[in-house]
Amino acid sequence: LKAIKAVLERDFLSPGMVELSRYLAERYLSPLAVALNTLLPPATGRRLERRWCWLPGAGGETEEALNLANCLPPPAGAVAAYLASRRVAGEGQLKQLGRRRELSEALASLKSHGLVREEWSWREAPRERRPRWVVPGEGVAAAIETLVKKAPRQAAILKDLRDGGPRPVTSFAAGGGYAALKLLEEQGLITITSLPPGDNKEICPEIKLNAAQEEAVAIINAALGRGGTFLLHGVTGSGKTEVYLRCAGEALAKGYQVLFLVPEHALIPQMVARLRQRLGDRVAVIHGDLPAGERATVWEQARRGEIQVITGSRSALFAPFPRLGLIVVDEEHAGSYKQDTAPRYDAREVAIKRGQLEGAVVVLGSATPSTESFYLARRGKIQLLQLPRRAGNVSLPRVEIVDLRAEFRAGHNGILSRRLEQGITAALAAGQQAILFLNRRGYAPHVLCRRCGHVPLCRHCAVALTYHQDGTLRCHYCGYVQKAGANCPVCGGTVVRLGSGTQRVEEEVRALWPGARILRADGDTTARKGQWEKIYRTFAAGQADILIGTQAITKGMDFPGVALVGVVNADLSLYQPDFRARERTFQLLTQVAGRAGRRTGEGEVIIQTYNPQDPAITLAATQDYHKFYEQEIAMRRNLSYPPFIKLVRLGFTGPDEARVIETAHEVAGLINNKGSKIQVLGPAPGYPSRVKDNYRWQLILKVPAWSRYKGHLAASLAAYRNRHDVRMIVDVGPINP
Ligand code: ADP
Ligand code: ZN
Repeated sequence: LKAIKAVLERDFLSPGMVELSRYLAERYLSPLAVALNTLLPPATGRRLERRWCWLPGAGGETEEALNLANCLPPPAGAVAAYLASRRVAGEGQLKQLGRRRELSEALASLKSHGLVREEWSWREAPRERRPRWVVPGEGVAAAIETLVKKAPRQAAILKDLRDGGPRPVTSFAAGGGYAALKLLEEQGLITITSLPPGDNKEICPEIKLNAAQEEAVAIINAALGRGGTFLLHGVTGSGKTEVYLRCAGEALAKGYQVLFLVPEHALIPQMVARLRQRLGDRVAVIHGDLPAGERATVWEQARRGEIQVITGSRSALFAPFPRLGLIVVDEEHAGSYKQDTAPRYDAREVAIKRGQLEGAVVVLGSATPSTESFYLARRGKIQLLQLPRRAGNVSLPRVEIVDLRAEFRAGHNGILSRRLEQGITAALAAGQQAILFLNRRGYAPHVLCRRCGHVPLCRHCAVALTYHQDGTLRCHYCGYVQKAGANCPVCGGTVVRLGSGTQRVEEEVRALWPGARILRADGDTTARKGQWEKIYRTFAAGQADILIGTQAITKGMDFPGVALVGVVNADLSLYQPDFRARERTFQLLTQVAGRAGRRTGEGEVIIQTYNPQDPAITLAATQDYHKFYEQEIAMRRNLSYPPFIKLVRLGFTGPDEARVIETAHEVAGLINNKGSKIQVLGPAPGYPSRVKDNYRWQLILKVPAWSRYKGHLAASLAAYRNRHDVRMIVDVGPINP
């Protein structure tokens, strides 16, 4: 551990990170090595570079290969010729041959024809020789006084900086200046960075903060440098982002670095644009999908203090800023802050921990805080800040609930109720945009034989296949695809499609408003990199009228032109077998509704449901978070759910079901045996009970006193970690137990 600690301290500059890895291991019952790996930089100081190798041999074979390449879309021919002459070339060398997009398509098709192979290799990152700047830190004025006698050279430098702001290192070269700078840096009075000082100013925002925002900003700013955790609860459109930006600006001005977490990749481009506009080029992005080479570069830049703000999804939390001042966790209620591979950490908890270890301020923000976070705030463990109204005198949208049962009784059974149909027509007529939300992609979720009741299931997973418009049935768990026949494979009866997904909605919308420009954003249309960004830009620019989408469009999106938001089926998330189903429904609906009328206040929201009286729906309609929270926390207390106990899910998977069940029983016995107060539920089949030909069973543990039992648990589980026939997954605080 000592050796690891040395490496960590060298590579991270922040000893807090060592503590953080230990926290990850203990809190999430994960082996220390796994926890450490999460924190390790992708490849410090080096960059991964992709190189392309030419495969065909010499002579005739090459000629044939070049002929083939010339038949592929350009620049495949040119790339092939280039590679054939050199055998190997780096990505940088190929750049001259075409535009990025065409180039990568050409390389992909050459690869699929077996002409080239890609290989990754390390390259030392060139140390950039940008001029380095000296930036004054805090306490400069006071230090001048004390240094003036003892160390006149240092005092003189500080005076220069105080009066003239940041200066290049070289301007202090004469008269032992470098040595003095070094001493000043050690005392924390200055920072030396390669950042041009022009970037260091916040580009002045025109918006004047309202009183609630002012207060929140003042309280958070006052904590900078000392640390503290805040929950910023503000209704949708209340100007939370504006608060984060002001605080980030202040943190930067004081020489601190800022981490800015967002829950979805889809939100990153928008956030980066907003951050860059206000904070300049010091903003970089880190997320799980970034190539390792790029991640390593950002990592290294962060470590050297060349960038000051990193935004990204949960993995950005571990960026090795040496002087972290502020961590913002935007939309903190989002389930995606939970990591789904080991260590299965919760980025909110880890952010709070990192903040404590490094004295950084942590701001969790949401219109619909997670029950756990709000509970912490209620008990005074974190400080609650509230923005009760929409910013800039914009009022909350009008919400209307449409009872689908009544629609049905009136003989109307389309996907869109008459009310919603009419709303869309009105919005389109007024030249405004509409969003239709449905939390299910595909065309029809179930295909059923009317005669024998057969439902086609995935042959690898125990889940029903989803019908897609291209005439296929797809498994949404493993991606398995098969053709959809018109007749039942079992009895030959007629097959019907039940329910509706986004594709079906799109079809209906196209039929109803043939002239409208329609976009669809779901897992199928946004799977490829950059696709969502394109949809987002198109819609935000007003180049489309109706956006139909799932999850990604609900969170934090700021579309100014949207007048109407329609929720096609509010009940979808309500009936999931999970104690958080109601909370998730409430959050989803409140967030979706918050997309309407963000600038004008003329927004309208129509929620379709078969449960018009359910509080999760009615309280979302009135945006009454507090009332919802009271009901929710009472339920959690009565039924012993988090935050009153800790939940642990132990998942067991393997190809041999008997072994899987047996192992689950063994572990259950072990935990039960030692006279503990841990309540063990199960073993029960997981949902789905089989994925990719592996059976899944699980135990749910309700742990009343976590700190007392975590050691016992870790010890009980240790022996089951590396079994080859049954894999055990340990999930502390699971999101979908
Ligand atoms: P949230 O993050 O709470 O949803 P945003 O920060 O995105 O809210 O703000 C919503 C909209 O209101 C944005 O268009 C923003 O520019 C604007 N806004 C924020 N604060 C103010 C203010 N004090 N006065 C006027 N408009 C504001
Ligand atoms: Zn499957």
